[in-house]
Amino acid sequence: MTEFAGLELAQPLLRAIADEGYTTPTPIQLKAIPPLLQGRDLLGVAQTGTGKTAAFALPLLQHLTKDGSKLQERRPRALILAPTRELAGQIGDSIRAYSRHMGLRSTVVFGGVSIRPQIKALAQGVHVLVATPGRLLDLMNQGKVRLDAVEVYILDEADRMLDMGFIRDVNKITAAVPKRRQTELFSATMPRSVQGLADGLLDDPIRVEVAPAATTAEKVEQRVLFVAKDKKRALLSDLMADADISRVLIFTRTKHGANRVAKHLDQIGVESAAIHGNKSQGARERALNGFRSGNLRALVATDIAARGIDVEGVTHVINFDLPNEPESYVHRIGRTARAGASGMAISFCDHEERAYLTDIEKIIRQSVPVDEDHAYHLADIVNGPGAPGPARQNPQRKRRPNPRRRRRPVARAA
Ligand code: AMP
Repeated sequence: MTEFAGLELAQPLLRAIADEGYTTPTPIQLKAIPPLLQGRDLLGVAQTGTGKTAAFALPLLQHLTKDGSKLQERRPRALILAPTRELAGQIGDSIRAYSRHMGLRSTVVFGGVSIRPQIKALAQGVHVLVATPGRLLDLMNQGKVRLDAVEVYILDEADRMLDMGFIRDVNKITAAVPKRRQTELFSATMPRSVQGLADGLLDDPIRVEVAPAATTAEKVEQRVLFVAKDKKRALLSDLMADADISRVLIFTRTKHGANRVAKHLDQIGVESAAIHGNKSQGARERALNGFRSGNLRALVATDIAARGIDVEGVTHVINFDLPNEPESYVHRIGRTARAGASGMAISFCDHEERAYLTDIEKIIRQSVPVDEDHAYHLADIVNGPGAPGPARQNPQRKRRPNPRRRRRPVARAA
């Protein structure tokens, strides 16, 4: 018996959970599963890595078996919208895994790949449809899918959906779903725009909030390395000499940047690939599979491409560029230290990025320890523009001095 048994989930689901090796429900699962089983609407403030997929998928699957798992062609009974192909694919994988003992059918549709197999799968009938908004609208316009039998409607990563400009598509899709339904909206952040969307969609929802930025960030060991922009690649080469960095996700701000870093890694003999929006679906999948299987030591990604990527055992996240949106930092470092494992996040910060670091430290409510122990340390940046006050406080370093740390000239206040 697992602790999941207390959640009133059906036997086939409990078996699938055991197959997955889950023993204890995560906080969001504990909080969300009971009200969802009762049919309540839900607003989930949670990010990837919290176990939110199972939190919505398990009650959904249980609901679908209530009336003998009835199934109709082209008329899914549950719709899950996700902003990116990668996330949609991962949700689809989870749904398949959790429903493996239930005889429920699901499929995933997204753009950038042939529409024909998707049309065929829908024609055969599915209980659960996982979709990105654009391709779903295409299929609706072609009459290949109807949403008038949807009983459960779930929007995942709603903040990213809005960031990516999907609001009109989402509104059109919502208009095609019956008014009488169970609705769930998940979002890592809750800006006013997402709250507005939630207000229009949800009926008297339960609000479940887990792992605010600070909690997630606390699990990950973080370091910032001050370095000039033109020395970042050399610094990366030095870091990659450390064999402990065995599965590393490297973030850049731009697609070009991602390509350049991947090329550099190639030149220094580190197996890697870049993923971003300009890559074909095939190339993205190959890269992701190579990274998952361990054939690639590094995956270089932009924020949007990396959204929702769930790879186990990422030992390090390297922010080659700091993100200008502080929330992205939290998303990025959450790719390591997943489901209880520990991980490390290393951020490069040049002069221009100094203010981004200040913003990040505000939202994670802690200062990121500075690692000076590298060949390119820029002392003048420590108290440079954007630094909080003349003397940058770093309590963690004061408490635990590193005896190996080489002495550096003390930075002069700007
Ligand atoms: P998610 O936040 O849904 O992307 O899930 C993050 C990761 O945690 C996935 O790899 C899940 O397979 C895993 N996971 C979800 N629930 C549990 C659980 N109760 N125990 C252990 N791992 C879990």
